Amino acid sequence: MQEDNFETIAIRLQAERTHFKEHSVPLYLTSSYKFDDSEEMRALFANEKDGNVYSRYANPNTSELIEKMAALEGAEAGWATATGMAAIFTTFATFLGNGDHVLSSRSVFGSTHQLLNNIFPKWGIGYTYADLDKPEQWINGIHENTKMIFVETPSNPGIDIIDLEWLAKLAKEHNLLLVVDNCFATPYLQQPIKLGADISIHSATKFIDGQGRTLGGIILGTAALMKDIEGFARHSGPAMSPFNAWLLSKSLETLAVRMDRHCENAMKVAEFLEGRNKIKKVMYPFLPSHPQYDIARKQMRQGGGIITFVIEGGVEAAAAFMDKLQMFSISANLGDTRSIATHPATSTHSKLTEEQRLEVGIEQGSIRLSIGLEHIDDILKDLEQALS
Ligand SMILES: *Cc1c(COP(=O)(O)O)cnc(C)c1O
Repeated sequence: MQEDNFETIAIRLQAERTHFKEHSVPLYLTSSYKFDDSEEMRALFANEKDGNVYSRYANPNTSELIEKMAALEGAEAGWATATGMAAIFTTFATFLGNGDHVLSSRSVFGSTHQLLNNIFPKWGIGYTYADLDKPEQWINGIHENTKMIFVETPSNPGIDIIDLEWLAKLAKEHNLLLVVDNCFATPYLQQPIKLGADISIHSATKFIDGQGRTLGGIILGTAALMKDIEGFARHSGPAMSPFNAWLLSKSLETLAVRMDRHCENAMKVAEFLEGRNKIKKVMYPFLPSHPQYDIARKQMRQGGGIITFVIEGGVEAAAAFMDKLQMFSISANLGDTRSIATHPATSTHSKLTEEQRLEVGIEQGSIRLSIGLEHIDDILKDLEQALS
């Protein structure tokens, strides 16, 4: 492939055509593959030859999706998993063992929090949390047994940002793996590996599918690191189904145009909200009032589709606002064509204590919006009437 523009790769990188000369890649529903002879079978199992053996390992649809995601993000290789959490679990389980320690951003996806707090300690893996806006916590959080730095930027739902080039330098100095959950940005808006990260992880469930239909996860990195991932994943079985890979690869064909519109709409909503008097605070990476605005401008193409704002009047005001929305869906998901509103304190982050919530920037009146692809006038009209 000689074209290397994002949109062109997203559309033109395709699995090889079959003798039917199909224009759009078909779905390969097959659990296993046939060998020409016993010698081919032996060579494939001995890794002396490339080819499909069994769909827990690889399938033409998952291979196409992985190759495309790697090309879009500037990674050498990748692996596809059933969900975003399976991608995060697989990455932790591959590179961490008894006695190891992870330095993670405090504000991580709820289930990632559960993995670090309640699941990995059973296997002797410890953690320390650091705040994205406090560099000294990252420097001081590295222990002798630290193996990995894990970070989500922009964070969920606080929309804080960290300088990935700075963090990659810190990780290199201490010989640590830098793993970035790049779900909010997608490869179109942010490419952590080009900024020095070792591994980039996506929940493809969000903007990559973009239509709220399916679950999926992707891990991207160097060929050597992905060999290690493969060594764990082939045998532990978190594989993505061929159907989901087929769907997600087609979704990537429209990622750039969808993200452009998500970002354009979100920027207008952020500006609209910032001017209102019942609103205490609006967090959106490309609003000049964002505390890490300069970093956002440096490492992101645009601000993304997610906005978090704080309404005056706490839980009651937040609930009243949510209940008045007519078009926005109340849902915990994000990255859909449909605009969505969530109240993190009583949903995604209800398991945290009030103090823990404040530490990750969630107030009682915080509302997270995932701005969809409806007409901007209708999005603003719904927000306007719900606020009035
Ligand atoms: C949704 C999400 C995940 C988990 O993805 P699933 O596909 O739901 O397993 C991980 N990280 C972030 C930032 C997410 O938003």
